[in-house]
Amino acid sequence: MTGCIARSDIFQHRLMEEPPPASATRRTRERYEQLVREAKALCASCPLFTECLYSAVAEHDVSGFVAGTTAVQRRSIRNLLDVEVQADDFDQLAGARGTRRPVSHEEVLRLRTQYPNDSLESLAMRLGCSLSTVKRHLRRARRGQSPAAKTPRPRPEVGAVLDAFDTVVDHQQCQPRRTGSTRVA
Ligand code: SF4
Repeated sequence: MTGCIARSDIFQHRLMEEPPPASATRRTRERYEQLVREAKALCASCPLFTECLYSAVAEHDVSGFVAGTTAVQRRSIRNLLDVEVQADDFDQLAGARGTRRPVSHEEVLRLRTQYPNDSLESLAMRLGCSLSTVKRHLRRARRGQSPAAKTPRPRPEVGAVLDAFDTVVDHQQCQPRRTGSTRVA
């Protein structure tokens, strides 16, 4: 069992889904930092690290903390690699963080119309997805973007993703196991 499944209390903590802004209380920011440290340690010893990182960087734009990275760090890795990944309808990685189900863009909009007075948290609960997924779909709708609007670019090599990870993420705190990793591209 992977760390993210065994410790869903860490990986699916609301602060991991929605990192606190700089204006949050010191206590909240410290709690978030503690959760990140714990999650990083679990990812660093995970045998699926390489596949998980590759998938979260090059294949699926998932939310939350995945493979030792925050969503912001994964965006930085993609920028370094000049990779663009369309926001996914799955907000958890299959086989790694598989406790939630896929949600379609249309389903989110339909429920928003059906329950206009629901909070976004309630909609997320109805859909069985994360709050950030609901927000992402609603943002996309506001911008008038279709989920199939963009053509994905060629995928990067696994080694390039690992190198970009080293550049972006402080590997003093998260030393992923590279030995024995499986090449997935
Ligand atoms: S590397 Fe991926 S599969 Fe492993 S614990 Fe971290 S998020 Fe889960």
